Amino acid sequence: MGKAILFSAPSGCGKTTIIKELMRYFDCFDFSISATSRKPRGEEVNGKDYYFLSHEEFMKRVHDDEFLEWEEVYQGTCYGTLKSEIDRIWNEGKVIVFDVDVNGGKNIKRYFGADALSVFVMPPSLQVLEQRLRSRGTDSEEAIVKRLARSAEELEQAPAFDRTIVNDDLQRAVDETRKVIEEFLNE
Ligand code: ADP
Ligand code: 5GP
Repeated sequence: MGKAILFSAPSGCGKTTIIKELMRYFDCFDFSISATSRKPRGEEVNGKDYYFLSHEEFMKRVHDDEFLEWEEVYQGTCYGTLKSEIDRIWNEGKVIVFDVDVNGGKNIKRYFGADALSVFVMPPSLQVLEQRLRSRGTDSEEAIVKRLARSAEELEQAPAFDRTIVNDDLQRAVDETRKVIEEFLNE
């Protein structure tokens, strides 16, 4: 077994942004590409950001037991971690990086135990989270309302994670996360 680092937070807290910065710094990282039944957004590329599947294809993979975990994160929209991603990344001798919702994060941590570091990314406030979701400019009003409705409940789950990083100033948050990860990798 190798090591894994997972990032969870409500949508818009900055997981993707922080992970992109860290991937540039840690050569040993490889990103676990999740499958999703949602449509690509903005510049997203199939097989890089996600494996974009139809709802039927996604459910067939659930039926074939291809997922380590999966969730219907928003009504009618599923996301899941493929077991094949874990084999792929550990066969390369790399550290797996997950970007998953809060329930997925708790399940993955339970599965990997001490081999995984679980990081919760916290927004400075719910108001700032709302502003960030809106200024990202990639979601419809309906999607933003769905995402915000879920956020308050998800934020309460932060204590279940190994570390919480407040994403106020991006560079500060990235530096703090980098230190936490270096400690974990050197353990
Ligand atoms: P998530 O992956 O958690 O859904 P994103 O990484 O897509 O969140 O970030 C949501 C939006 O907030 C993006 O437009 C991103 O550029 C912006 N953002 C992320 N971190 C910060 C920060 N520290 N300060 C200001 N804006 C940020
Ligand atoms: P988005 O649509 O903004 O890319 O992602 C929405 C939410 O789904 C985010 O909280 C993201 O972390 C989560 N997510 C992405 N992939 C997975 C996955 O494989 N499993 C679970 N449980 N959640 C995921």
